[in-house]
Amino acid sequence: MPTEQVVAGSIPAGRMKFCLATEGKISHRAHLNLKIKGEELISCFVMKKLNQYFMQEALKEAKRAFEEDEVPVGAVIVHENKVIARGHNQIERLNDPTAHAEMLALTSATNYLKTKWLNEASLYVTIEPCSMCAGALVLSRIKNIYFGARDSKTGACGSVFNIANNKKLNHRVKVKGGILKEECSSLLKCFFKRKRK
Ligand code: ZN
Repeated sequence: MPTEQVVAGSIPAGRMKFCLATEGKISHRAHLNLKIKGEELISCFVMKKLNQYFMQEALKEAKRAFEEDEVPVGAVIVHENKVIARGHNQIERLNDPTAHAEMLALTSATNYLKTKWLNEASLYVTIEPCSMCAGALVLSRIKNIYFGARDSKTGACGSVFNIANNKKLNHRVKVKGGILKEECSSLLKCFFKRKRK
């Protein structure tokens, strides 16, 4: 009998199998949980692995930004357990101070879904969103924000401001930070170290 706490999830069983195939070690335990609680339930243990999987996808975007000499922040938007949009910082390339990874991914996601709301989608971003991005994410009515490293200077998901989950606004986003935070922040540190040389 698995000991992990079981929480509700909305990941279709077919997609689950795909993700678990990449995580051979946990597949038996995960399937056991699914058998006990049904297809709509997923263990916290598996959720953690999925969050790490999608954060790795966001990190790939951040690395693209790094290669383009942009501040390395990357984001993906996930819907029904599938990456539907990607974005990385393009402020220098586009000469646009609003071209943050999250903003580009958000526009791409609404284009893909042909809708202005993202109620059932989740954002994974390597660094805590700023006030502009958090504001835009609230407007999009996105369900979850998962971020990697905190941003103690401009973070607007709890560090400096809390725009994502603010009672005064008409939509509140669930926020979880700290996913692969070392990888996310070390890429940023490496970038600024290189810039100072
Ligand atoms: Zn931003």
